[in-house]
Amino acid sequence: MKGVTMEENKQQLAALKKLLDLPHNKQCADCVGGGGAARASWASINTGVFICMRCAGIHRGLGVHVSKACATKSCKKRKE
Ligand SMILES: [Zn+2]
Repeated sequence: MKGVTMEENKQQLAALKKLLDLPHNKQCADCVGGGGAARASWASINTGVFICMRCAGIHRGLGVHVSKACATKSCKKRKE
């Protein structure tokens, strides 16, 4: 398994926090346009979008070869 150094991990967490702080990333990318978009607390890490819990369930159903959905809280801990 490929690891990252503590310094790299720190930089990646800072980058993730910056992205999560952007107003348009606080709303689900899939629900946008369908009325009130849900709060994005998940991310599809291979497609690079922030999504809500409901849409994350749909993404997970598609399979990891299509979308790798994970909670942003667990993304913060992920070492990849
Ligand atoms: Zn959604």
